[in-house]
Amino acid sequence: MTEVSTDTPMIRVSAVDKYFGSLHVLKDINLEIPRGQVVVVLGPSGSGKSTLCRVLNRLETIDSGAVAVDGVPLPEEGRALAELRADVGMVFQQFNLFAHKSIIDNVTLGPIKVRKLGKDEAREEGMRLLRRVGIADQAEKYPAQLSGGQQQRAAIARALAMRPKVMLFDEPTSALDPEMVNEVLEVMAGLAEEGMTMLVVSHEMGFARRAAHRVLFMADGEVVEDTSPETFFDSPESERAKDFLGKIL
Ligand code: ADP
Ligand code: MG
Repeated sequence: MTEVSTDTPMIRVSAVDKYFGSLHVLKDINLEIPRGQVVVVLGPSGSGKSTLCRVLNRLETIDSGAVAVDGVPLPEEGRALAELRADVGMVFQQFNLFAHKSIIDNVTLGPIKVRKLGKDEAREEGMRLLRRVGIADQAEKYPAQLSGGQQQRAAIARALAMRPKVMLFDEPTSALDPEMVNEVLEVMAGLAEEGMTMLVVSHEMGFARRAAHRVLFMADGEVVEDTSPETFFDSPESERAKDFLGKIL
């Protein structure tokens, strides 16, 4: 029976420590994210949020502990690593699109290379994803011809084209002009509603209240609070969280 796998958390982080030289950036992190859960991560600059994301798709190595995605321990390298990267989609603050490729080519490149889709099939699927994020009419343009909000939506479509099991978002709206923030958050909220497992580093409180099942507050490389959005925003426990919320609200 397949019942076992539904109990396997989509992400399991066990006793993870990470150093940059003598700087201890992740301190004994333990975290399980069930499938379909949306987790928003907040915390002051330098608290280790981006490093946590990068550890989850193995853009960074860890010094001790273990990380598993859908029950599979993080591989070291090679083919298994490419497959893991396909399972874990990532969207960055800076959209990181390929500047010299059209939007549709940005979206189809990974599926053609890694998923071995034919060009026509990749394009059909890519156009479907661009429609889903509302920029099908921009498919033949180059990234620089799009607004920031459109570029970020293209980056989301590109990540989804790999059919990931998990999506990581690292401050996806921080580089956007304010009027473009909502169009990106809308796409993310839609994904959340469809049951995508998501870890979202963002200080957008409206999104957290609406879409998150859970909030993690990080400070100095530690998870200081792990609770519901309501509890976190309305009655944070730690002094560090109160202090942080006092600054962002
Ligand atoms: P956040 O995303 O919460 O702002 P980061 O995970 O980016 O925090 O960084 C955590 C700490 O690790 C910071 O002190 C940062 O300066 C440091 N750091 C991040 N990346 C590197 C790196 N590649 N080399 C050395 N130090 C780094
Ligand atoms: Mg960061």
